[in-house]
Amino acid sequence: MGEPIYALYINGEWMATQETFPVYHKYNGQLLARVARAEQEHVRQAVTAARRNFEQSELTPFQRSQILQKAAEIATERRDELELSLAREVGKTRKDAAGELDRVINTLRLSAEEATRIAGEMVPLHATPGAENRIGFAIRVPRGVIAAITPFNYPLLLSTHKVAPAIAAGNTVVLKPASTTPLASYQLVEILEQAGLPKGHVNIVTGAGSEVGDWLLADERIAMYTFTGSGEVGKQIKQRSGLRPVTLELGNNSPNIVHRDADLQQAAAIIAQRSFHNAGQACIAVQRILVQEEVSEDFTEAYLGCVRQLRVGDPEDPATDIGPMISEKEAVRAEAWVREALAEGARLLYGGKREGALLYPTVLADTRPEMKVNGLEVFAPVVTIQSYQTIEQAFAIANDSAYGLQAGIFTRDLDLAMRAARKLEYGGVIVNDVSTYRNDVMPYGGVKNSGLGKEGPRYAIEEMTDLRMVVLNLNG
Ligand code: NAP
Repeated sequence: MGEPIYALYINGEWMATQETFPVYHKYNGQLLARVARAEQEHVRQAVTAARRNFEQSELTPFQRSQILQKAAEIATERRDELELSLAREVGKTRKDAAGELDRVINTLRLSAEEATRIAGEMVPLHATPGAENRIGFAIRVPRGVIAAITPFNYPLLLSTHKVAPAIAAGNTVVLKPASTTPLASYQLVEILEQAGLPKGHVNIVTGAGSEVGDWLLADERIAMYTFTGSGEVGKQIKQRSGLRPVTLELGNNSPNIVHRDADLQQAAAIIAQRSFHNAGQACIAVQRILVQEEVSEDFTEAYLGCVRQLRVGDPEDPATDIGPMISEKEAVRAEAWVREALAEGARLLYGGKREGALLYPTVLADTRPEMKVNGLEVFAPVVTIQSYQTIEQAFAIANDSAYGLQAGIFTRDLDLAMRAARKLEYGGVIVNDVSTYRNDVMPYGGVKNSGLGKEGPRYAIEEMTDLRMVVLNLNG
């Protein structure tokens, strides 16, 4: 008893609901809060508030920029408290939570900068005969109400990647966070309002995705959906949204190539350090390591040497490298995939142990492409090592995937790096670092089943605005 209750946040007012659901500490199971379960009428009210505030908003781009800049400052001041909250709500280690906070602050700041740069372009109407007296230009206009649906794994960052560019561009938002980690979204909106964002520009509706998501998709007043999460839900959103634009940031089974000319010690250290971020629950987490046969033994030995150093345990302990997964159910699912691979002939090089939601870093060899640990998105601290002979084989294995978000390659050969950039069918190719590298300024988004559209403030603003053509017919 005595735990906080988060009501819905609609038009700047807290709105209690009849039903609530619990949010737990992901390591010790303690009840952290209870959160409102929205009904369809609440979702309607949230969209009404967002639409009304969109129509009535008088914020200039400069004011929007100032609000987002101020939000970056407030997030910086509150970072200790926010990091601790992420450690509890997600089970994220303090190291990973600090990384998430750095990126939240960057994303707010970058969005603030982009707000002042939104411009259109001149269109040379004189390129066609008879248009000499006309001047044409396209301006960028906000789309209206944006529905943002976010996943559990980076709840503060991924909400920021949607809400901050939407605000920068002059839209209003209805935000639906993941039910396992909704508290971060409330913190984000609190920060934006402290920074001066008028009430009702961002509204939060919480509850089961299958219900709240469904109601959001049914509301024709929503101009655009921006979703990050699983492919399964992403496909439903694309089907249900009709002609309205969507951005979908979905999964991956990231390949990371280690070629024979790479600095093996450096590659092993970087890959080991970044293989298990967020307990492997990152869409661009290292999943498949492809090593050239000649250096496979040396690399594997160096890699395992680094993995052995990683500490598993309480995410609130600053020394911990790998905390729990989001739930015991998910850890059991990943463990079952590992067992299945072992039964089908894979070899366990390290790990494989599970205690509740804690899955120890697990490294497998002798896997085959059709095994779940390779072919599907494992979304757990599980990595496979496969060897290849020629780089063409490596590209073929890497591309033999339903996904295409990001890939990594370690090589000292610039020509090869550039060939990889052309050959790897991914939204991003990272050279001499892992697929997990993401800088918030860059365009980020996949091909194939990894999604549609780009994020990163500048690119998200392009997605969240429309080009409106203006033609002046001049007399004389
Ligand atoms: P998820 O199950 O797809 O849930 C994502 C969000 O969608 C949650 O808010 C969820 O609500 C909601 N939702 C569920 N069913 C829905 C429906 N029928 N209609 C509308 N919304 C619905 O994904 P997750 O388990 O939270 O996150 C893991 C996935 O996200 C992985 O596949 C990962 O690769 C992907 N991801 C991608 C990126 C990227 O940038 N590409 C980044 C991070 C994660 P509830 O929580 O209430 O079910």
